[in-house]
Order: sequence, then C-alpha cells, then structure tokens
Amino acid sequence: DIKGTWPLANGVEIPYLGLGVWQAEDGAEVVQAVKWALEAGYRHIDTAAVYKNEAGVGQGIRESGVPREEVFVTSKVWNTDQGYDSTLRAFDESMRLLELDVLDLYLIHWPVPGKYKETWRALEQLYADGRVRAIGVSNFLQHHLEDLLPDAQVKPMVDQLEFHPWLVQPGLQAYCRQHGIQYQAWSPLMQGKVFEQDVVNDLAAKYGKSPAQILVRWDLQRGVVTIPKSVKRAHIISNAAVFDFELTADELAYIDSLDRHERLGPDPDVFPK
Ligand code: NAD
Repeated sequence: DIKGTWPLANGVEIPYLGLGVWQAEDGAEVVQAVKWALEAGYRHIDTAAVYKNEAGVGQGIRESGVPREEVFVTSKVWNTDQGYDSTLRAFDESMRLLELDVLDLYLIHWPVPGKYKETWRALEQLYADGRVRAIGVSNFLQHHLEDLLPDAQVKPMVDQLEFHPWLVQPGLQAYCRQHGIQYQAWSPLMQGKVFEQDVVNDLAAKYGKSPAQILVRWDLQRGVVTIPKSVKRAHIISNAAVFDFELTADELAYIDSLDRHERLGPDPDVFPK
C-alpha cells in the first residue's frame, strides 16, 4: 500500500512511493501539498536545498500531526556547495530550515566533476555521526559509480535518476541492483508528457486508471522508488491510488520498449560544468 517500504542496503526502510516537491513554492503551496500528501497516506517527501522550500516541507510535516518518525524525508546538497566543509555547512543549513534533528536520506544532487568524492566523504561523516539515516547520490551514471565506489567507505544506498518510458537505462538499473543501490525515479510522470503516450493511455483505458497511475504502477512493479510531483490535492491523492490493479509482465515490457534514450532534464555528463 501507499505506506509500503523496501529496505535499503543498511536495513533502513524507504517508502517506495513519495511526494516530489520540485517547483512547489515555499510557504502555503508546499506546506499544503505536504499536508495533503501525509493525510492521503504518503510517508515520504523528496526535497532539495536548491528547491528553496525546505522550510515549508518541515512546516507541513509538523502541521500534519503525523509523527516525525513515520515520515521519510530526503534532501540533497546542491552543486555549488560540493566539497567536504561546504557540504557539512549546507547540511546544517538544510536541517535548520527543515527544523529536523535527523534526516532520513541525504543525496549528492549531481556528480560535479572533481568534487563529488570530497562531497561523499562529508556524507559518510554525517552518516557516521548519526545525523542522517541513509546516504546516496543522484544523477550518477555507471561510470560515476565505478569511479566513486573504490574510494567509498560506505556505498551509496540510493541513486535517484531521471526515469520514465523515454529513459529506462536497463544497464544502469542492473548495475545498481548488483551493488545494492536502490534505483529511484525522478520525473516519473515525464513532467506531464505522460498524457501524450498512446500506449500509456491505452493501458489507462483498459484498467480504468489515469496515465499517471499507470506509470507509478510501472515504477513500483519494476522495483523503482518513485516520487511523482503535484501540488493539487486531487492529483496527489490519485497518483498514489495504484494498489488495486496490476500490470502484466507483457505490459511492463511494452512500457520498457518505449525507451528512446531521451532525457527531459540535463545530461549528467554535460551538466554541471
Ligand atoms: P513529474 O514527472 O513528477 O511531473 C510533475 C508534473 O506532472 C506536475 O507539475 C503536474 O503538472 C503534472 N501532474 C502530476 N500529477 C498529475 C496528474 N495526476 N494529472 C495530470 N498532471 C499531473 O516531474 P518532476 O517534478 O520533475 O519529478 C518529480 C520529483 O522528482 C520532483 O518534484 C523532485 O522531487 C524530483 N526531481 C529530482 C531531480 C534530481 O536531479 N534529483 C530532478 C528533477 C526532479
């Protein structure tokens, strides 16, 4: 169900369905979205320093009345803060805004060349100090992971990547599985383009579900943690109503086959410089 979890490599349980809040405005908009999500049963919120809404996320969690320890909160260190000392400072600032003592998951937002290993050392320190329950990366391709892993004391527990029917990256999925790195999807609804996919629309009609629900369901059946974004109450509720139907193996494969190796967001090898 919506509160269901999968274990990360260190045994910490991550709710496999969460709310993304990129481009949700700090203040009323994000506070309300977080409260609606928690009321609907979500137990996982994905924010980042660069989203500039950590304060509202923290406020929404407190106002929801859901006990802090039941909510899995992720934030991310932004590119310009990478490096050992600056990451530790950025973490403190995120925690000050969120008004939390312990974070559930802290990610390196992008693999900034020449910086991400020092940044990873800082995450390992925060993890050793008990300030964060799990640490991971985002937008790391296989070559970034191959470069990082030999120097890592602690392996990343999560890699959060662009993932939808146009960008499936089966090789990277397999590599992550092999190394105990949980694959997590960003832009799972193709930033709205999901509604242009005939195959997805056909499946939606077959099951009496929305196209968004078809993709959230595809993520979960593929073992991918997913964080669809909306600030609209009806969409927040419906995006998570995916536990009353099941896609067949053929249908999952059919969605996989829509892969165009096409990104909606930046290429981790080009951005950032
Ligand atoms: P998304 O694919 O989740 O799409 C969100 C958009 O789809 C919304 O703005 C809304 O317009 C539309 N939508 C949502 N539900 C709908 C529904 N039921 N019906 C119709 N339209 C609907 O896009 P996203 O926000 O880019 O990605 C999700 C989350 O992933 C972000 O909020 C953020 O938390 C995270 N993210 C992380 C990175 C990263 O670099 N790590 C990058 C982008 C996003």
